[in-house]
Amino acid sequence: MNLADRLHTCAERLGDRAVITLDDAVLSYRALDLLSARVATLLRGRGIGIGDRVAVMLPNVPEFAVVYYGVLRLGAVVVPLDPLLRRREIAAYVSDCGPRLLIAWHAFAETAEAGAAATGTDCFFVVPDEFRRLLRGLPADPEVVARDDDDTAVIHYTAGTTGRAKGIELTHGNLGGNAAIVARMHALGVDDVVLGALPLYHSFGQTCSLNATVHAGARLTLMSRFDAGRALEVIRRDGVTVFQGVPTMYIALLDHPGASDLSLLRICVSGGAPLPLDVLRAFEERFGCAIVEGYGLSETSAVAATNRGGDGRRAGSIGWPVRGIEMRVVGEDGRQVPCGEVGEIVVRGPNVMKGYWNNPAATAEAIKDGWFHTGDLGRVDEDGFFFLVDRRRDVILRGGYTVYPREVEEVLYEHPAVRQAAVIGVPHPELGEEIAAVVALREPVGADELRAFVRERVAAYKYPRHVAIVGELPVSPTGKILKRAITLPQAGADRGL
Ligand code: AMP
Repeated sequence: MNLADRLHTCAERLGDRAVITLDDAVLSYRALDLLSARVATLLRGRGIGIGDRVAVMLPNVPEFAVVYYGVLRLGAVVVPLDPLLRRREIAAYVSDCGPRLLIAWHAFAETAEAGAAATGTDCFFVVPDEFRRLLRGLPADPEVVARDDDDTAVIHYTAGTTGRAKGIELTHGNLGGNAAIVARMHALGVDDVVLGALPLYHSFGQTCSLNATVHAGARLTLMSRFDAGRALEVIRRDGVTVFQGVPTMYIALLDHPGASDLSLLRICVSGGAPLPLDVLRAFEERFGCAIVEGYGLSETSAVAATNRGGDGRRAGSIGWPVRGIEMRVVGEDGRQVPCGEVGEIVVRGPNVMKGYWNNPAATAEAIKDGWFHTGDLGRVDEDGFFFLVDRRRDVILRGGYTVYPREVEEVLYEHPAVRQAAVIGVPHPELGEEIAAVVALREPVGADELRAFVRERVAAYKYPRHVAIVGELPVSPTGKILKRAITLPQAGADRGL
């Protein structure tokens, strides 16, 4: 089934009910279906058809969904790109996947055009009023092109905290199945209002916010940019019942002095990056809504596991695999390790990507015997709850000891003055690597005090010998602290470096 079929069925059933809103702009199910059918006509007119790639560089606006479902309807493949990408990044992605067209938001026209020029890719710029007028004059393409479960629907380029970005090929089966799982798991229904604060170009927002909303016939209220004060307003104004966010959003909401009466909110989901336990507890206490932690990667269509609510939850755990999906912890030899031991998390099931676009070597390295190797280290307890330990490549080796940065970061977050923390390895002539902490503060505190605070709470080889205090840490739009983008401040006694 084509992913766009679901929208079409919902449009027949739900007609004028709103599917997407952005402040005063309202798009009904019928309108979204019709407009996407007109986009299909527009693209067909440009000779675009089954299997062709169309790069889509749009922010969180209703037009994202119109273009997204329009491309899918045609059997073509969406390549969502972060609208904030630079020329070089766009050039790299379009050279890799060779789209027939790049559809970009007008405000990013200059960069998009410059990036697309590298491959001579045609561009189409979305200017809302003109776009609406253009579509009004086009007939709706009546056909939703039939697609098999293993036909590619979307190619996501990883935000890539390291290395060369790879195109993750997700199929109609991958995405439709994962959206259905999310919708079912949260019991989403037509009366739900989902806050669309996550970027739609990323797999987390696309599956959990857009596709799950459409699957359930619910409504998505978009935010073009996340801002804690504004989010609290929208949650109250629109009666939001489901909030899906990344840890940085939860931290920002907690730090915001605004009112905390969010009585209609029934589900809060956090994913994409580690949620410090202290943040989880403080948020639940203040807002009275339990946070469900979700875990997954773009390669797993977004969601692989969740720490379901109620009794089935263990704070700090990513829970168990979602329905139909298997997850294990394996050692270097690929064999499952005993309970409690740390190993790599591997995932198998219908949510695992088809492969990396045009990159069989990378695909073979990632998927072995049907198991996708996540690069995340974790362990399972006796009751089957999974715990993430760290990214395999972030592990620090200090003089023969293995240090998991996340463990040290958790301790730093316990200090009331710490707002953001990243623990990284820095080269050391004898030890190989030494532990360094880079923190951003919410109130003044000295590097020495932070060092002493951690030293009291962890084994001697784990505490950061270097503590650098910075204004802000680099964070990806999906809430990951970009450790490789951290530049340590110049050495200085006051900074402990
Ligand atoms: P992406 O492919 O951009 O969605 O990034 C996937 C990565 O995000 C995973 O490999 C994890 O390292 C990280 N991640 C996802 N969910 C969580 C979570 N609940 N806690 C910690 N890290 C997470």
